[in-house]
Amino acid sequence: MANKCISCNNCGHTGWSKNRGNFLITIVLAIFFFVPAIIYEIWRRTGLGVCENCGSDLVLPSNACTTNKPSDVGDLIVLGVLGIVGGIVVMILYALADSAINAYKNRNTPEPQLSQRDLEGNCLRSGMSYYQKQGEYPILKDGKTLALDKIQSDCKGSKDGKYKAP
Ligand SMILES: [Zn+2]
Repeated sequence: MANKCISCNNCGHTGWSKNRGNFLITIVLAIFFFVPAIIYEIWRRTGLGVCENCGSDLVLPSNACTTNKPSDVGDLIVLGVLGIVGGIVVMILYALADSAINAYKNRNTPEPQLSQRDLEGNCLRSGMSYYQKQGEYPILKDGKTLALDKIQSDCKGSKDGKYKAP
């Protein structure tokens, strides 16, 4: 942990060291890559830290500090923020994974198969429009057969829903 009593070779200041690096970098890292953010934050806290006066890392351990060691409240805030950011990142990843899985599932779902009833219904409709165009609706040109009866028997067991004109 930083927060060590150090004397600075750069500016001659003696006092409590700060963490290396910048917490903003931790936040930016945490938004995109949570694990590197944790590693970066651990790195910031290892070693002697940097001079609180000039930010230099040319520091040596010292026991000449006259003020009290700063409290660790800042560390608790950092951990809290990281926890929240981590939670948000996990939720976003979960949502992304979920929608990706759904998209994948939808892609692999075959078109719903038409039932035999649907196929015969489609056949019936195309058969009716066929005989209407031929001028043989509702009675065929033999003058006695109902077009609908013929279409119905022709469409029985239709495989593709299309009426096959005789
Ligand atoms: Zn310094």
